[in-house]
Amino acid sequence: MQAIASSDLTWAVFSSVRALDCVGQSSVDSECLESVARNEKSVNEPRKARRKEKDAGTTEDPKLYLEEAALERQLPEVDLRMLVDLPPGLDYNEWLASHTLALFDHINLVYGTISEFCTMTGCPDMTGPGLRTYLWFDEKGKKTRVAAPQYIDYVMTFTQRTVSDETIFPTKYANEFPSSFESIVRKILRLLYHVVAHIYHCHFREVALLGLHAHLNCVFAHLTLLNQRFNLIDPKETEILGDLEAALLGDSTSSSAPSSQTLAIQETPTTAT
Ligand SMILES: [Zn+2]
Repeated sequence: MQAIASSDLTWAVFSSVRALDCVGQSSVDSECLESVARNEKSVNEPRKARRKEKDAGTTEDPKLYLEEAALERQLPEVDLRMLVDLPPGLDYNEWLASHTLALFDHINLVYGTISEFCTMTGCPDMTGPGLRTYLWFDEKGKKTRVAAPQYIDYVMTFTQRTVSDETIFPTKYANEFPSSFESIVRKILRLLYHVVAHIYHCHFREVALLGLHAHLNCVFAHLTLLNQRFNLIDPKETEILGDLEAALLGDSTSSSAPSSQTLAIQETPTTAT
């Protein structure tokens, strides 16, 4: 822990986390961290470690994020469930827009803290748990295999552009949501789910070493409970983290065994469909 506690990165991360308004103040439980990240010598060696894991074959890595010490979360479940319930009298689209913006900000922030470890060589594919690989549809509609950092850049760029579009996410009085609003939100949440799945699958060790696992778990719980409440993401997408969902939220509704399949997501980096 000493090695990373003194690094500039750690301080930058802790500063960034203060902006995570849904998860409150950053706190680091060094005992917990040591337990979570045992066997890890230093955060400076993640690429090497990842290469070793890849060399070990195609069998799935042990899921560090399911270990008991890693399952802490910043907010209790009951508060999170209340957080996603639509208040009486509030417009459904407004509610979806507000949660989508919050989730985008938080996921972008958490990914930003470990993005230096997510490289073209370290993560040549956009992978998630259950040996899942996400493919991207390019501008010509052809599905392409892209490295994780590239895929995530497409996701964040697409989302940023979409939520900034006044015709889709109206902020001015008298501007209406488009009839396709919910389907656009579904697409954004599905893509953000891929980012979360990749972070858990490939970068959880770095997240834990930086003391951000409780924040990540909180964001995942928020996304999951919003989805459970309004059925916004296809269960085939969420089954890969069904075990974590059950461990964190005690809900077995989507804890079916993950399948190893490749999902092709109809998506272009430049067009909101
Ligand atoms: Zn990565």
